[in-house]
Amino acid sequence: GDAAAIGRDLEISYLTDKGPLPAVRGVDFALRRGRTLAVVGESGSGKSTLLRAVATLLPRGQALVSGGSLRIGTEEVSALSGAQVQALRRQHIGVVFQDAASALNPVMTVGAQLAEAITSGRRMSPAEVRDRSIALLKAVQIADPESRLDAWPHQFSGGMKQRIVIAIALAQEPELLLADEPTSALDVTIQQQILTLLRQMQKERDMAMMLVTHDLGLVARYADDVAVIYAGRIVETGPVEEVFRRPRHPYTRALAASTPKLRHGGGTRMLPAIDGEPPMLGQLPPGCAFAPRCARSGGRAVCTTRAPELTRCGKADVACHFPDETESLHAA
Ligand code: ATP
Ligand code: MG
Repeated sequence: GDAAAIGRDLEISYLTDKGPLPAVRGVDFALRRGRTLAVVGESGSGKSTLLRAVATLLPRGQALVSGGSLRIGTEEVSALSGAQVQALRRQHIGVVFQDAASALNPVMTVGAQLAEAITSGRRMSPAEVRDRSIALLKAVQIADPESRLDAWPHQFSGGMKQRIVIAIALAQEPELLLADEPTSALDVTIQQQILTLLRQMQKERDMAMMLVTHDLGLVARYADDVAVIYAGRIVETGPVEEVFRRPRHPYTRALAASTPKLRHGGGTRMLPAIDGEPPMLGQLPPGCAFAPRCARSGGRAVCTTRAPELTRCGKADVACHFPDETESLHAA
């Protein structure tokens, strides 16, 4: 119905010397119009891999969707030709990466880059292109847009560059907006402005958004749903209020506990930051991938032998043999 993208049992692998190694495994998700799904997890958990797959921008020859289904709009991506995938991406998908500076071409004016994104090969009158360019810059709240069209990227601050990247991403009025750490290169004030802008654009234009971040504080403020990913699998997912009020997976609890903004709710209980390291690609432990770092597992046999499936708990889905149903981290 209102899903702009759906993944089912999605597996994404990197082609390495040792053969294909899955970095994302058995992932189910839906990106619905008008909603933001945040994808959170430690470095190396597979967040960007998942986002790039949905963006149809996996590096060719290095990574591929090796299993499951990815549907964008009504299309099964694996059934499309290269040219069809490109057309699909152009029409339906806007992407914003962390590094705005490198997303922009330093030797093209902002106006020329906007024009390219707006026309994207079609013939349009210069006046129409100019009007739409100005409207896009206004939409991302760049002051005096008429005079900015002839400016070069280096004449803008980091936050302004990211606004221009967002304007370019919106040029084709996509249903799907994919943002990978869009503000982690920016200072805190600018970060909030950009995320507020993305959120406003997403609501106004009824887009579906995937927001990749490792900052749970941002998730609480800017997302509707959250998927917590560990070693390439979703370990907990559901509405943000549910997952944060009552994190049930020991990994989610540990992440939440290491996020000051969430911890400062009401309780003063301090939980330890997560000890240990996530597993390397191709070196997954048997059973639950989190078991070697999990205090709750206590080495129980089921945790080290059988991988837990996502199972409904309250309003969330949790992949844990012993989901934690005790009171929230910040009991009000
Ligand atoms: P971060 O928070 O650091 O951005 P991430 O969650 O986005 O991390 P990914 O970049 O998706 O993580 O990486 C997932 C896994 O895939 C990691 O183990 C990483 O080392 C591996 N990986 C990423 N790119 C490649 C590549 N080109 N070739 C082989 N392995 C890769
Ligand atoms: Mg990443």
